[in-house]
Amino acid sequence: MVEIANSILLKFQNVIGQESAKSLLRKMVENNRIPHALMLLGMPGSGGLSLAIALAQYVLCENQTEKDACGTCRSCVKASKLIHPDLHFSFPTVGTNVTSDRFLENWRQAMAENPYLDVNQWLQKIGAENKQGNINKEECTQIIKKLSLKIFEGKYKIMLMWLPEFLGKEGNRLLKLIEEPPGNTLLILVAENQELILNTILSRCQLVKVPALQDEEVEQGLIVLKNIPLEKARSTAQLAGGNFNEALKIAAQPESDNSAIFLEWMRKCYIGNGIEMVDWVERFAGLGRENQKQFLQYGLHFMQEYTTLKMAGAENGLDVRLLPKERVTAQNLTKVIGFDQIGHIVNLFDDCAFGIERNANQKILFLDASIKLNKILRN
Ligand SMILES: [Zn+2]
Repeated sequence: MVEIANSILLKFQNVIGQESAKSLLRKMVENNRIPHALMLLGMPGSGGLSLAIALAQYVLCENQTEKDACGTCRSCVKASKLIHPDLHFSFPTVGTNVTSDRFLENWRQAMAENPYLDVNQWLQKIGAENKQGNINKEECTQIIKKLSLKIFEGKYKIMLMWLPEFLGKEGNRLLKLIEEPPGNTLLILVAENQELILNTILSRCQLVKVPALQDEEVEQGLIVLKNIPLEKARSTAQLAGGNFNEALKIAAQPESDNSAIFLEWMRKCYIGNGIEMVDWVERFAGLGRENQKQFLQYGLHFMQEYTTLKMAGAENGLDVRLLPKERVTAQNLTKVIGFDQIGHIVNLFDDCAFGIERNANQKILFLDASIKLNKILRN
């Protein structure tokens, strides 16, 4: 019945970007100075969880190299399937009297699919529907029990906890464990929101910050891990805001050529022919909410880069994050959209995004927006 997910490729070399965090963690292992309570703190989608798993595998590896786990020893094979007996996991679940162990198979599957996932995706996977996740009292008891076990195979017992934010006040049950841990135990906490973590826990952990990814790192990740072609990887990364999970969501959407739609909309609104505007709105409404949201996100990104380009001048704006064809569009628009209008357009896109989030009628919303855009462009 137990089906083991495929190995997950999470040695340091497979973790996207985060070079300085990696080298800090490697040094800790190399110098034998791994703090017994370590907290990786980073924005969602920046890769804290990937780093934590890579660190655990590195620590447990029987054949460490200077930079990474070997990937082939007995320990690595087990760690990479998340079935190493000295590597334990704890994460948010739903309900009382439920502990992480019940969802270990889901966890392995989820990590094999996407270790950059967010908590909502995770809770969906375990059928939480609209219930709040938590890390409850029973789970804390389990953690203490697991870390008091003898070490089975390796040099360390590791407890990797994802999102200690969900401990709430139950976290106090772990203080003694963190303060006086049994020998050779390592507690790795992966957190996203410092403000939601008990101070008593925070102050007992060594903190390693995991910054948002660079666009280029997200782009590389999409190319290397997901085989996404360069141009699409680049335009996707530019919309993802350093969040690899977000990039995966955007890349999974059916391809829609946002830059072409954008240019067409601007043209129709500039000309202001009512019939053509209605026709555009009819077609655009058919794209569905997810695509419309992404289109608006694209529009905001475009306007931001457009502003930079307009300020720097076409010859100087070399670091503007636009693809070649988008640059052409931007340069053509400089005659039409001045600085005064940029703010109005950005506000309009924001309002549209707000309306879409709240399930406004799409045709009415975008027809109204088109009329406003016509006024802005003609002003
Ligand atoms: Zn190894």
